[in-house]
Amino acid sequence: MFSKILIANRGEIALRVLRACRELGIKTVAVHSTADADAMHVRLADEAVCIGPASSRDSYLNVAAILSAATITGAEAIHPGYGFLSENADFAETVEAHGLTFIGPTAEHIRMMGDKITAKTTMMALGVPLVPGSDGELANIEEARIVAEKVGYPVLIKAAAGGGGRGMKVAQTAADLEEAWSVARTEARAAFGNDAVYLEKYMDKPRHIELQILGDNYGNVVHFGERDCSLQRRHQKLLEEAGSPALTPEERDTIGRTAIDALSKMGYRNAGTLEFLYQDGQFCFIEMNTRLQVEHPVTEMVCDVDLVREQIRIAAGEKLGYTQADVTFEGHAIECRINAEDPETFAPCPGTVAVYHAPGGLGVRIDSALYTGYRVPPYYDSMIAKVIVHAPTRAQAIARMQRALDEFVVEGIKTVIPLHRRILADPEFQKGDYTIHWLENFTARPH
Ligand code: ADP
Repeated sequence: MFSKILIANRGEIALRVLRACRELGIKTVAVHSTADADAMHVRLADEAVCIGPASSRDSYLNVAAILSAATITGAEAIHPGYGFLSENADFAETVEAHGLTFIGPTAEHIRMMGDKITAKTTMMALGVPLVPGSDGELANIEEARIVAEKVGYPVLIKAAAGGGGRGMKVAQTAADLEEAWSVARTEARAAFGNDAVYLEKYMDKPRHIELQILGDNYGNVVHFGERDCSLQRRHQKLLEEAGSPALTPEERDTIGRTAIDALSKMGYRNAGTLEFLYQDGQFCFIEMNTRLQVEHPVTEMVCDVDLVREQIRIAAGEKLGYTQADVTFEGHAIECRINAEDPETFAPCPGTVAVYHAPGGLGVRIDSALYTGYRVPPYYDSMIAKVIVHAPTRAQAIARMQRALDEFVVEGIKTVIPLHRRILADPEFQKGDYTIHWLENFTARPH
């Protein structure tokens, strides 16, 4: 086992990783920008190194500074969290080239899944069902037209290098195709420096259902069931549940077996998530994330597993030590992402937290780096906390989340807590009757 790990991230996820390290008896090194000198992850770590100015590009994405920090402090491994360098294959490779362990999959697998076209062709070859669409990169607009006619409108033009919902444009009819094509390419070039695009049928009422996987270095792969992440705004998840209100245990087993089979054949190691669109009883693979996800806690609650601890154990060369039959699912979990945003306009709302009081009680978990007096910097992601609840049934989990949000005090900045309260009180949500388009319609409704 490692004796010291550097955490190449900030905010709640840096704390999440730090907590797992503490429990394993591993010393932690925090890295931070000048804007984060007072951050909780810096305060709680055994050591902290400033790696650059506020801008992420110069700090949390600064590979040379992060590697120097690891070398100076004698860290043996680096946990990248999510976002920042977590899905950067070159970073993973550089870390290993410096004799350190990257806590995650191989650079080869990160690269393969980072290109969504390669990801889809790989998964197809491994027997995973896909969303109907182009076979690979579209060579030109004429090819896009032919494929679109074949799969039927509406269609989606997506960037091969896409992420965070960027580089994705819908064409409702043939008349919109050319514009969707050029806007998606321009956006992809600007955001990712790669304008390769592909085409998918735009599904009208899917749910976003993803499967949590863990694999060790010895070919053992298990899944920890699904998360339903259909509640999204601009393709960004806002509330997640485990399990999905739409899935039967049999459907979970079936897709789980398909996923395990595919990832075993790949020789995948560490944590990963297969994302699917699910409609009319069919799963269609859209992408794979080769890292820990923001919403991993809902899985941890229902499976009683510490996924970060597992990631560290696997990276240290330990065997999983259990099989699929040992993975059980208890009750229901819900996560609300609390963003520092105006709940009506979604404008970011950084500033000083005048009063902070976190909810508690049975089945309530808060993953957050906030404290009273903390200044939310304007430079990074607006997510400031995750409220996670676990209860025997979905209805009890909803009631518990409502109770927890009522207790939650974050004064001085605006948050999306009022929006979560409205969602939780909505009869359609309570019935579990929603698709990926539901939240956009809901937020547009008068209230
Ligand atoms: P990103 O990597 O940018 O998050 P994804 O491919 O994961 O992109 O898609 C993000 C979200 O966009 C999905 O969760 C879903 O809501 C929507 N989406 C993606 N592909 C389709 C599709 N073919 N039809 C309908 N919605 C889609």
